Amino acid sequence: MAVIHTSGAFLQQCFSVHPLCLNLKRLIAPHHLILSCSSCHLSHRLTIQSLRTHLPGQDHPMDFDPHPAFEHLTTCLEAHRAALGICVMDVVRDTAGIRCAECRRVFELDVSKFETHQR
Ligand SMILES: [Zn+2]
Ligand SMILES: [Zn+2]
Repeated sequence: MAVIHTSGAFLQQCFSVHPLCLNLKRLIAPHHLILSCSSCHLSHRLTIQSLRTHLPGQDHPMDFDPHPAFEHLTTCLEAHRAALGICVMDVVRDTAGIRCAECRRVFELDVSKFETHQR
């Protein structure tokens, strides 16, 4: 039976202890992102409130429409999932950041809900 924790505490813990073990699993339109931790075998589900993307060196997000950002992230996930990594996790401010080593694109997420599924 799966246990679900509706708190970001587990994800924050994974990010501080073993950030490299967090893998982007799946993006479920319109607003769910699934992360899995290969170290503690937890599955984290983020409900995305808004998603922005920009390239380094640009102060402001270049996509004001949320859809292109979502499409960029989908493309990254499909094309080079291994290049994606979590670079920011702040469950207090409900924000997360994803970096793509391949396109050097940065994604910023506002998260409305963190859930952790224990398997
Ligand atoms: Zn973990
Ligand atoms: Zn990419």
